[in-house]
Amino acid sequence: MKSHQSLSTPVQYVKGVGPALAEKLRQMGILTVGDLLFTVPFRYQDRRDIQPIAKLTPGKDRAIRGTIIRSGVSFLGARRKRIYEALVKDAAGDVASIKWFHFNDRYWKQRYAVGANILVFGDAEIFGSTWQFVHPEIDVLGEGEVPVGEILPIYPLTEGLHQKTMRKIIRSAWDNFREYLEPIYSPDMITAYSLLNSRECLELLHFPTPQSDLEMLSSGTSAAHRTLIFEEFFFLELGLALKRKGVSSLSGIAIPKNEERHQSFIASLPFQLTSAQHRVIAEIAGDMQKPQPMNRLLQGDVGSGKTVVAAAAMVQAASQGFQCALMAPTEILAEQHFASMLAMLLPLGIKCALLSGSTKGSDREQTLARLSSGDISLLVGTHALIQPEVVFQKLALVIVDEQHRFGVLQRQLLKRKGEQADVLIMTATPIPRTLAMTLYGDLDVSVIDELPVGRKPIMTRLYAEHQRQKLFSGIRHELQSGRQAYIVCPLIEESEKIDLKNATDVAEQIAAEFAQEAKVALLHGKMKPQEKEQAMRDFKEGKTKILVATSVVEVGVDVPNASVIVIEHAERFGLSQLHQLRGRVGRSEHQSYCILMADYGRSEEAKRRLQVMVETTDGFRIAEEDLAIRGPGEFIGTRQSGLPPFRIANLARDTKVLSEARDAAFKLVDHDPTLTQPQNRKLREALIQRWEGKLDLAHVS
Ligand code: ADP
Ligand code: MG
Repeated sequence: MKSHQSLSTPVQYVKGVGPALAEKLRQMGILTVGDLLFTVPFRYQDRRDIQPIAKLTPGKDRAIRGTIIRSGVSFLGARRKRIYEALVKDAAGDVASIKWFHFNDRYWKQRYAVGANILVFGDAEIFGSTWQFVHPEIDVLGEGEVPVGEILPIYPLTEGLHQKTMRKIIRSAWDNFREYLEPIYSPDMITAYSLLNSRECLELLHFPTPQSDLEMLSSGTSAAHRTLIFEEFFFLELGLALKRKGVSSLSGIAIPKNEERHQSFIASLPFQLTSAQHRVIAEIAGDMQKPQPMNRLLQGDVGSGKTVVAAAAMVQAASQGFQCALMAPTEILAEQHFASMLAMLLPLGIKCALLSGSTKGSDREQTLARLSSGDISLLVGTHALIQPEVVFQKLALVIVDEQHRFGVLQRQLLKRKGEQADVLIMTATPIPRTLAMTLYGDLDVSVIDELPVGRKPIMTRLYAEHQRQKLFSGIRHELQSGRQAYIVCPLIEESEKIDLKNATDVAEQIAAEFAQEAKVALLHGKMKPQEKEQAMRDFKEGKTKILVATSVVEVGVDVPNASVIVIEHAERFGLSQLHQLRGRVGRSEHQSYCILMADYGRSEEAKRRLQVMVETTDGFRIAEEDLAIRGPGEFIGTRQSGLPPFRIANLARDTKVLSEARDAAFKLVDHDPTLTQPQNRKLREALIQRWEGKLDLAHVS
């Protein structure tokens, strides 16, 4: 107990931290002594290697030592900008210049007085014919003092918080509080996963010795890093493992499968299910039959046919007199789902209704009344479904499509409209394994790893602006064969700042270009719901042949006759997003094309990235690349995900440690589901402290 109180002591109690500093730390999420001690350097400076000025090379992290021979305000360049400059001369007699653009005359004059013996540390550049350091770090040494060759930690900072201050308060926190850093793992775990204890770890990271392995420290691969990364993952996974254990101990609704109804549903489909679809339908059916609530993630690449799998689950629930909800992230998608569900389920006598933001007045009232009386079996809609007025009679199955667009909270709000309803969440964003283990670590996973037969891989090409005519003739060719085309632009309207193609202008240009041959429609998020619906319907019914849109068509939209998608300024989109957009075509037996119009200019990086799209249609590979390039935050919108931010762990890099941590956590929960065995006591305390109520741990306590 003592240990908690001490590490959770507010950071103001660290010597050297006053109210102003405490506020700055708070902005960085550092509230307690523990937070401070676990703020580890993200980089190190090597001060072991002090160079003669004559031997300098341009670059970061250079150190020189010398005596100040001139110090004062001077004026720079034609505009005579006021700066502060000090000249420093080293033992060999060579001189370098130090410049400050922000300074305080009086204080600088005093601190950097002529004759001072200083150590300068920073980026060395050549300016004219001299070496210069702009805003370097400086240690003023005592007279004749020779600096010890140190490796110094570099901490994350915030406005107005200096590196030196940070080092000082961490030292002070360490001196006064380190005794409270007690080992939390059982000796068994320490051996099994080769962990260090936190005190050792932090000492190695905060106070490296001149003998430390700088390579490993800097790349975050030292044993100390590994332990802390393990720890971050471990507590997350432990939370997830407990959550999963908790769900499996709840009693939900067992929904038996009506085999006859199931068979007639399958027989009514205009196509044969793939074997992957059969398999996941069986997995879901199995979950639904069990008396515990289902908590399952259905992953399947774009076009793999998740909608029909959802429908099969609904048939099972509706056949037993239960209600279902299907929530989609956009109105367009909700409407489309509603239409497909009507087509598939109405023939079986299953009544469906649609509820979105644009369902109003008596329509809405009627729908709500029929829902609460149990007359409607399936309600399809947008997040309008989670409004409090929406009351089900017997909600037993909740399906959320394109899950990554919703927050965890929205998912839960919908689930709570039933009593321990079964939950199926569907996503077309292939999630790298590591992310799946964290984001969805408490869920069972089904994967549709097969596309319907007869699909031809989409051909993807990278075009530059000068190939626009070729692009047009390509589109023309497809139109003549009876197909349709999407053109996606990053923006809706003209923007002053950036010269980007916008949907409104492009729609006009395209309409002019194809005036003789095809009708062009525009679709973007700022249009009124009815306008959007109309534009989508016209395109679906083939009344318009070309749809110029913003990325609103990104998720789920299904128009199998479309065979070309052109993405303007493809360099502006993330890979996963491009993959989703590309998935709008290739939904039938027709050969489809995706043309990435890109203006990557000098950026080799952008080109390499887009090249991945050309090389592969494998959503998982694309997702891995995307994760590596942009990190998980971008990818899944971590803010919404409910995941704690990782301080040191990196999901793209630390895959192996994550697997180990997950393994450790799940094993532990298997052996000691309540974490009450004596060797796990410390762990349990630490867990509760870390999750601070973010996790529903009722079943543990
Ligand atoms: P997604 O997984 O991207 O949500 P959809 O469920 O929208 O995919 O299905 C994509 C298209 O493929 C739809 O037009 C759907 O009717 C069709 N489809 C689904 N399953 C099959 C199948 N087994 N054989 C042929 N077409 C299928
Ligand atoms: Mg879909």
